[in-house]
Amino acid sequence: MDCAKVKEFLYRFIDNEADSTVIAHIERHLKDCPLCEKEINKEKKLDCLIREHFSKDEAPAHLREAIARRLQVKRQRQRYLLGLFILVVLIAIACIWFTLMRFS
Ligand SMILES: [Zn+2]
Repeated sequence: MDCAKVKEFLYRFIDNEADSTVIAHIERHLKDCPLCEKEINKEKKLDCLIREHFSKDEAPAHLREAIARRLQVKRQRQRYLLGLFILVVLIAIACIWFTLMRFS
């Protein structure tokens, strides 16, 4: 894993949301890369400060509901785009297959 990949997974790593393989790769990288280690330590300290000062404050219910709705819409849009992509790929495969069958 390189520094760019570590940055990509930085917050998931700090929040313990990365999978075990990613965690192992990052930990191995951190042993050899003081820059990434320093960056992660800085982010962990900032994370602790934020949790200490803001963890008691809870977002209002309407805000949480609005965020949940937006996340749901985003997930639905992603599923729709994935379905559309799969459909386009299948149509392309069918066109290629029919073309090959016609000329063989
Ligand atoms: Zn690095």
